[in-house]
Amino acid sequence: MSLIVVGSMAFDQIETPFGKSDRIVGGAATYIAWSASNFAKPVNQISVVGGDFPKEELQALQDRGVVLEGVQIKEDEKSFFWAGKYHMDMNSRDTLDTQLNVLANFVPVVPDSYQGSEFLMLGNLVPSIQHSVINQMKTRPKLIVLDTMNFWMETAMEDLEKVLKDVDVLLINDSEARELSAQYSLVKAAREIMKMGPKYLVIKKGEHGALLFYDDEVFVAPALPLEDVFDPTGAGDTFAGGFIGHLARTKDISFENMKTAVIVGSAMASFCVEKFGNTRLKEISKEDIDNRIRQFVNLVNFDIQLI
Ligand code: AMP
Repeated sequence: MSLIVVGSMAFDQIETPFGKSDRIVGGAATYIAWSASNFAKPVNQISVVGGDFPKEELQALQDRGVVLEGVQIKEDEKSFFWAGKYHMDMNSRDTLDTQLNVLANFVPVVPDSYQGSEFLMLGNLVPSIQHSVINQMKTRPKLIVLDTMNFWMETAMEDLEKVLKDVDVLLINDSEARELSAQYSLVKAAREIMKMGPKYLVIKKGEHGALLFYDDEVFVAPALPLEDVFDPTGAGDTFAGGFIGHLARTKDISFENMKTAVIVGSAMASFCVEKFGNTRLKEISKEDIDNRIRQFVNLVNFDIQLI
């Protein structure tokens, strides 16, 4: 159940209608690793950080079974920084600042010890860097999942189109699906996007759940109705970690099992939003996760006798 996770490890500054954070640890690969390591170990991480990235955060990841051999530490440089502001609905947000810093010249190197990994999770990152990791794999992983965002559609669309041809599953949110496909209907958008390469597509809709598309089939997962959402940052990445973590643990990449993976991803994302940054992900136990997954089962379970 070997798994490689690629993505940003970062500092974030987050504003919500209810408060503003200081610079806190974030980054797509950070959230993915915290989430996936509940299901699959080791998580073979590939990223880059500056000398300013807290060493205790790296240690905490290692203590959870995250291997950092593929994480470059550029002591004299600054980590990637992202600032965002959420609107009142806590679903939509504006990016206030993106400072690539160490990401600007990042050349990922897949360590020999990572070769042969069966699952590859390409978290949000420069598309050409995501592609370079695929190209360095001596044996194609059994499943390649890619996450991206509007920033890359606007700044690196050609490279994004190239890497999409080589992945099995794409995870994006609804507004990104519309932007990528130039279609408003998500069903039409899904059809267009699946022509670009991925056989499977997950469209995340924040508090409205997620859709999984494959061929002419669609599966719908709810989001857990929560009383309070403190900070949605990283929810998509945490979803990705649960999704790939479940698939890597079970080693089953059928559409049926992907439905379960979407539920596991949704359950993990529901924890992430309960506190700022990755605080909540650091607290939860296996029992918390199992209980939350049971809540999801109850949310969608019903009996009917058709007459
Ligand atoms: P999410 O809320 O799941 O979309 O992910 C938010 C995380 O993505 C934050 O922790 C950011 O550090 C990270 N992030 C934001 N913009 C980018 C970008 N352009 N490239 C890579 N990571 C990013």
